Amino acid sequence: MNLNHLKQTTIPFLKRIFQYKAVRVISYGLLLFVALDLIFPFKVQPNYSTLITDSEGKVLHAFLNNQDKWRMKTEFSEITPTLEKAIVYKEDRWFRWHFGVNPFAIARAGVRNVFTGRRTSGASTITMQVVRLLNPQSRTYFNKIIEILRAFQLEVHYSKDEILQLYLNLVPYGSNIEGIKSASILYFQKSPDVLSLAEVMALAIIPNRPSSLRLGINNDFILKERNRWLNEFKKSEVFHNQDIDDALSEPLNVKRHEAPKLAPHLSLRLKNEYPTEANIHSSLIRNKQLTIEKIVQNYVSRLYAMNIHNAAVMVINNQTHQVEAYIGSADFNNPVDGGQVDGVRAIRSPGSTLKPLLYATAFDKGIITPKTTINDVPTNFGGFVPENFDKLFHGKITIEYALANSLNIPAVKLLKEISTPVLVDKLKKADFQAVKKNSSKLGLSLVLGGCGVTLEELTNLFSSFANEGQFQKAKYIKSEDQSSIVNLKSEIISPESTYLINQILTQITRPDLPNNYAYTYRMPKIAWKTGTSFGKKDAWSIGYNAKYTVGVWIGNFSGEGVPELSGANIATPLLFDIFNTIDYNSSSKWFKSPENIALRKVCAESGDVPNEFCINQITDYYIPSVSKMTVCTHAKYVYVSADERMSYCSHCLPDSGAVKKIYPNHAPELVSWFETKHILYANIPPHNPKCERVFAENAPQIVYPVDGSEYILDKNDTQKLMLNAQVRNDVKEIYWYINDKLLQKATPNTPIFFVPEAGKIKISCSDDKGRNTDIFVKVKWE
Ligand SMILES: [Zn+2]
Ligand SMILES: [Zn+2]
Repeated sequence: MNLNHLKQTTIPFLKRIFQYKAVRVISYGLLLFVALDLIFPFKVQPNYSTLITDSEGKVLHAFLNNQDKWRMKTEFSEITPTLEKAIVYKEDRWFRWHFGVNPFAIARAGVRNVFTGRRTSGASTITMQVVRLLNPQSRTYFNKIIEILRAFQLEVHYSKDEILQLYLNLVPYGSNIEGIKSASILYFQKSPDVLSLAEVMALAIIPNRPSSLRLGINNDFILKERNRWLNEFKKSEVFHNQDIDDALSEPLNVKRHEAPKLAPHLSLRLKNEYPTEANIHSSLIRNKQLTIEKIVQNYVSRLYAMNIHNAAVMVINNQTHQVEAYIGSADFNNPVDGGQVDGVRAIRSPGSTLKPLLYATAFDKGIITPKTTINDVPTNFGGFVPENFDKLFHGKITIEYALANSLNIPAVKLLKEISTPVLVDKLKKADFQAVKKNSSKLGLSLVLGGCGVTLEELTNLFSSFANEGQFQKAKYIKSEDQSSIVNLKSEIISPESTYLINQILTQITRPDLPNNYAYTYRMPKIAWKTGTSFGKKDAWSIGYNAKYTVGVWIGNFSGEGVPELSGANIATPLLFDIFNTIDYNSSSKWFKSPENIALRKVCAESGDVPNEFCINQITDYYIPSVSKMTVCTHAKYVYVSADERMSYCSHCLPDSGAVKKIYPNHAPELVSWFETKHILYANIPPHNPKCERVFAENAPQIVYPVDGSEYILDKNDTQKLMLNAQVRNDVKEIYWYINDKLLQKATPNTPIFFVPEAGKIKISCSDDKGRNTDIFVKVKWE
């Protein structure tokens, strides 16, 4: 059939039926209705209270709507058959069949009005009641007609289920309570889907006279009315007789309760993040949230005497990537200590908590393995001279010892080696916002806490250590569909490197175990890292196992530092308490070793592949084809005189009398530290004084000032510049030159000071063997 044919047949047909008056009236009526609907659209914006629910859908926290009313939204799933049957039977039996208006009911009410002279509202359908509730108007005949038209409009735009839902959400319950869910929560402390028939009936009758039928005040009267209606229902056989009899015998002892106000920090946060949602389904697990809230509150009250007033805790489920507990402060209702501040999102200094990420990155770069040695000796990084937490230096130590003991010099050395931007990039990938913002200003101090992070960011980061290095931001909203989040994963460190970090952070022989720690035997196995910020302002302890990652921050929101504050002694006991509570007697398995990780023999002196002279060998993990395969140079062969008082090189080796011996090959910085500490070490005897050869590679190393740097000195203070050099242990005297003029003769390892002139200057240091080093610096007087 083509279009022409359609025209030929339908147009005459339409013309023919349009001759009937009734058809014309109906058609124009419909057109008028459509036009009115377009001109006066019915805006249905119920303005609900925000509800935050827990992972099971139970209300955790309720907020008044912006008119200070409780108008909680009943979801479809909460409208049970009992609720629907009771309401529909009582209010509007033909609700499912009419089109917003019930003409028979209007006729009946009209007749009744004529005979009694009273106006009753019996003719109102549920739809018309919704119109009135949304848009209250005085009761005139004109308004009644408007209401009828509005009811048509509602029926056109909304389904019956939606109209019933609107009705249930708008009916008044006296005071500022509206809707069946508000009444159900505030009086019965449960959601509407678990109300009994008796409770449903009580709530069904109140809206007729909300000011005189007040629950908690007129309970006896409501009970009487309830039972009158129940008996009426009995006749209609809407419910089983047995159910009615049970409901009739149910007492009614309710009073109004406070609205739930649990998990206040996350609730406020979610309300602000989802301003248009009435019901926000959080991922919090009620029991965990409440138990940990209590633990934190009690714990901080014990710290109060030390002037430590606040704490924040976040718990991530490592398998679901959902946040199960969120404690923003010790006590939300304590305004004195800033209880409303959300400590989970506060930007603080991380102390040492970023070290595991740094070491993991270095493992992945192949430059270290757990048994690689590193020198923990005083080091000047271009003017930045870090110290350890205990103000001590530990000499030559392994990487795993350096991380487990959170030593600062090795961490800064490693960061210098991999370069700051590489670590910053990792942090950006792990969504550290303040780091992202300030990335260009961050230097080597970054890894000692010289940046801003939040507890949320740190806990998310550590959660990736529990997930083979895959970073995935934890969710606060309950998500049913786990597969949808898998795509958002990104690898920040390899599974192999993650495994090595997990091994190191599990060691129990650590100095950051809390003092007098007594609960180890029943603790679930966890890996953890502590941190204490500069000035003792922040104590951190972040721990994880396969199941959970728990982040703990303790400090003062005022920023006040406290001498006793430390990650190990203040934050870790709380971390352990929380693990003991949420994972007590856990049988969960530890992380499996990834495939591409292997064991090898290394020299205990260096952690490198053993050389022929490496007698002391130990087993170490490494990542095949990633970890470097450097052969150990911890020692070297040296020709010495028989009395071991003189050493020779190939130039001056005598024809007879010399013996080949093994000597340790210490780095100059370590030798210099041995000297200042008067630590005895196997020393290569001084070189043959008659030797003609000059070893440029053994020239003094100027450690301060730094070659190529600019120094700004204070004019008013006539500041001096320090000169310091590290030299070979066979050197007895050194000579300092400024612009090729002798400044001073000095003994090795003794810094000297001088007042430089402004401008570019050449600084030279020569030793008594004639070996020389030059550097250039710029000096400004201001
Ligand atoms: Zn060796
Ligand atoms: Zn020689």
